Amino acid sequence: MTQASEKNLDIMKSFAESYAKRTDTYFCVDPGVTAVVLEGLAKNKEDLGAALCPCRHYEDKVAEVKATYWNCPCVPMRERKECHCMLFLTPDNDFAGDSQSITVEEIRTLTAS
Ligand code: SF4
Repeated sequence: MTQASEKNLDIMKSFAESYAKRTDTYFCVDPGVTAVVLEGLAKNKEDLGAALCPCRHYEDKVAEVKATYWNCPCVPMRERKECHCMLFLTPDNDFAGDSQSITVEEIRTLTAS
């Protein structure tokens, strides 16, 4: 599978960092989780024009983008701070780390294998 472009990866990384700060949520203690989700979001943004949640299966991705429910930040996240991808974790979550930032280089390294 080809990786997302540097540009889209950077857009999603910046979005995730500022959204985590704004919602008082944290990235996963395992940065590999954060990296894979961000790479998936960036790839969907590239292929579909919107950051469709990468942690779900869709019969029709184009229709899902139009429906907007699973465009990141999805409705469950916006309404209840529920991110099943574990990209945005509330501080009380056992898997929450203490970071709200990640670099594009880290993402590339962590998703290379
Ligand atoms: Fe984004 Fe929602 Fe998917 Fe989390 S679960 S990555 S907030 S779309």
